[in-house]
Amino acid sequence: MPREYCGIIAAAGGEVSHILFNGLRVIQHRGQESAGIATFNDSMALRRGSGLVHEAITPADVKTLSAPRGIGHVRYSTVGGQSDECQQPMTVRARFGEMAIAHNGEIVNSEKLRADLLGGGWSFVTDSDSEVILRLLSLKMATTGDIVHGISEAMKLLVGSYSLALMVGARVFVVRDPLAIRPLCIGRIGEAFCSASESVVFDSLGGELIRDVLPGEIVELTDSGFVTHAPFFEAPTAHCMFEWVYFARPDSYVDGRLVYDVRRKMGMRLAQESPVEADFVVPIPDSGRALAIGYSEASGIPHAEGLIKNRYVQRTFIMPSQRDRDMSISLKLNVLKPVIQGKRVILADDSIVRGTTMKQIVKLLRKGGASEVHLRIGCPAIISPCYLGIDMKNIDEFVAHGRDLESIRKFLGADTLAYASMDNLLASIGKSPEQLCLGCLTGKYPVPVPNHP
Ligand code: SF4
Repeated sequence: MPREYCGIIAAAGGEVSHILFNGLRVIQHRGQESAGIATFNDSMALRRGSGLVHEAITPADVKTLSAPRGIGHVRYSTVGGQSDECQQPMTVRARFGEMAIAHNGEIVNSEKLRADLLGGGWSFVTDSDSEVILRLLSLKMATTGDIVHGISEAMKLLVGSYSLALMVGARVFVVRDPLAIRPLCIGRIGEAFCSASESVVFDSLGGELIRDVLPGEIVELTDSGFVTHAPFFEAPTAHCMFEWVYFARPDSYVDGRLVYDVRRKMGMRLAQESPVEADFVVPIPDSGRALAIGYSEASGIPHAEGLIKNRYVQRTFIMPSQRDRDMSISLKLNVLKPVIQGKRVILADDSIVRGTTMKQIVKLLRKGGASEVHLRIGCPAIISPCYLGIDMKNIDEFVAHGRDLESIRKFLGADTLAYASMDNLLASIGKSPEQLCLGCLTGKYPVPVPNHP
């Protein structure tokens, strides 16, 4: 599976450091490489570090960060290296004071913008596209003499996906790209008005979701509410379909749709599209759970936990040998043999990218005694790279690249294989193709992508 990319949060009103810290923990699934928080009292305080949120930011840090406004970030890099300088929030001193940025997404024209800025005498510390946004914002705020005008001028030049949390001196803004590719919503937690990549932050911290940030909207969070600078782009949206399929937590609402409902409906439709006789529907935990429940409901085939996940094995490192890679999967997942032995199993998962993990899981199930393994996948085949913020770049590694369905089935070692249809995906999300990005499924992207084959 692709690894998650980034999550952002912003808050203003009351004491926000605990909200930012705990909010980042709620969206930890969106990035585990590094975490950071910047807050503003009389001056900016910043804490960033490698690892999970509680590893990067200590309780003493949270105390130091105590302030009435701030932003935060969890990161898995899609563009840029893994150096400490690439950790976010990134900061700079600019015309309107200290500025900090947290970015989720990917700018497809960042190399051109970087070259233009370099030509204008700007310097860079990292090769990250987030730094390009930060420098561009500083420039446009300085040249227009106005923060909001500067943001809107920068947005006219940025092509790609960006949900931003931005702190300029004591002011906090959130910004969503004109196509609203990455999720971003506004809510309230106690006295604080907040924004986060996923609505589950508000739920988990005892607050409430107010609404999604609109396409191209700039929102300022204040002590007493939020001020919206109306969307000024008239393009249709291009929400990333993969948020509903895989990335977002099932208990989040993304652009008005509960992720759990979408995945369950996909499973129900998949049962009608691709029925098969079997004894159990088994999810790959946790990504395939809602899909398996839906498939089970619609088919009448019982749902069973046949694979048990070890929640404490966090990361799969690059393993040098096949033996090590097999070991890594069996450390993460164990087959519940008394359930599986001699049974015909429908194995449900949200999507397949490279297929290497899926192949090993099918092998595990057979070793555990499954008499048949039928794969049901809740998303059409991924055939094209993502340039908009998901770490799926190397098309040669995709299992569906250059293979037909039968060859993929053979590669994975399954008895049967079926992907959800495009109609299923669209009907389950409840949006039209014109409202979504489907680039990795179709090779057609909502923005011009340089160097796309
Ligand atoms: S290409 Fe795929 S993963 Fe990337 S933004 Fe579009 S739908 Fe999402």
